[in-house]
Amino acid sequence: MVKICCIGAGYVGGPTMAVIAIKCPAIEVVVVDISKPRIDAWNSDTLPIYEPGLDDVVKACRGKNLFFSTDVEKHVAEADIIFVSVNTPTKTRGLGAGKAADLTYWESAARMIADVSKSDKIVVEKSTVPVKTAEAIEKILTHNSKGINYQILSNPEFLAEGTAIEDLFKPDRVLIGGRETPGGQKAVQALKEVYAHWVPEANIITTNLWSAELSKLAANAFLAQRISSVNAMSALCEATGANVSEVSYAIGKDSRIGPKFLNASVGFGGSCFQKDILNLVYICECNGLPEVANYWKQVIKINDYQKSRFVNRVVSSMFNTVSGKKIAVLGFAFKKDTGDTRETPAIDVCKGLVGDKAQVSIYDPQVTEEQIQRDLAMNKVSVVWDAYEACKGAHGVCILTEWDEFKKLDYQKIFDNMQKPAFVFDGRNVVDAEKLREMGFIVYSIGKPLDG
Ligand code: NAD
Repeated sequence: MVKICCIGAGYVGGPTMAVIAIKCPAIEVVVVDISKPRIDAWNSDTLPIYEPGLDDVVKACRGKNLFFSTDVEKHVAEADIIFVSVNTPTKTRGLGAGKAADLTYWESAARMIADVSKSDKIVVEKSTVPVKTAEAIEKILTHNSKGINYQILSNPEFLAEGTAIEDLFKPDRVLIGGRETPGGQKAVQALKEVYAHWVPEANIITTNLWSAELSKLAANAFLAQRISSVNAMSALCEATGANVSEVSYAIGKDSRIGPKFLNASVGFGGSCFQKDILNLVYICECNGLPEVANYWKQVIKINDYQKSRFVNRVVSSMFNTVSGKKIAVLGFAFKKDTGDTRETPAIDVCKGLVGDKAQVSIYDPQVTEEQIQRDLAMNKVSVVWDAYEACKGAHGVCILTEWDEFKKLDYQKIFDNMQKPAFVFDGRNVVDAEKLREMGFIVYSIGKPLDG
């Protein structure tokens, strides 16, 4: 029986391994993590992350061929294929601080693999890493090896939070990069055989290591750039009376552009887009390509601009001050169908509003009070468990996540219980602005013509 071990039981490690386990009953999959609370949660009825469909997949194979453990060394030693899916955040200090990827967790995982391995291993980069990381990992492993053969593969993950299980069941593509040596190609084949259990061969792409590593950064940069492009357009729409939804629809009909990822919003968030673009910027700078670096930097600048533009719109619309006014924030997660708040635009928006002395009351169906207070690092907001409660007595409502339930709220009831004039600032274009205006709301929708 092939044994797989995944180091890192996070948003990527947990779901990806659960899907491998359910699709490959003859493979034993163990997900390990140094965090005991996280592993305990994976072994409990309340999984550590919210992801539609995940509970069913985990329940179907946990205890059969899917296991979660803190016994990292034992399971790494026993595995044939080791996925490394540890976090690779932006460095906060030292060389490259604020841009480069922090590979501390990766390096410590690699050193541990070298320490405990007694048989040949395939080590798979599942985390998003800078191009050329495999070279560093090879150095660490081979310089500490005791005659053990390691093959490093790059197999970046393209799942999107909120649709992770769907994405993993039916991936647009699986990308595997390996060395062009016989050993490297044998390892590529072994990993291909795992995915071939459910992914059509045509959707499994093999490349050299550096192309695979760079493709992940490139994919995230392109996706984020698309959001910043439409958000930049939304500012121009507001200034001219054009409607960004109409513009998106019109340009998306061009088959060279396509309709996806063209929704204007308060800005992108999540743990990946900003960190991966900063990483790309750093790599460009290190390779003597400052103009290319500047091009990608602009994607982040526009995102920051969009968030501050939203806050400024709220404050200026409410007679240039929100001091002492109650503002309801609906949605704190960085997108719908996830409880993840890493780099969510809601953090900047809430901080901006509190900075102007607003009384902020937050509701999100999947985010806990503890998460919100930690993210904001201030005890100046209240967190409630009901959208109507958040809006009661408020002067304004900001919609920051596109949760489906926000489309179905009883806005008449909300209006009746708010201060007047009652404002709605729709940062995701989820409400029917015309209907709300008929009720008496003053509505601001991103990229749409403004109220008179
Ligand atoms: P995460 O923070 O949710 O999980 C990482 C886990 O690794 C943590 O639980 C941590 O305790 C564990 N860990 C760290 N060092 C360890 C060690 N030495 N031994 C054992 N466990 C260790 O992160 P994530 O969101 O799952 O992301 C992981 C990687 O995947 C990152 O590189 C990220 O960029 C990439 N990625 C993330 C997504 C996403 O949507 N979250 C999508 C694609 C790729």
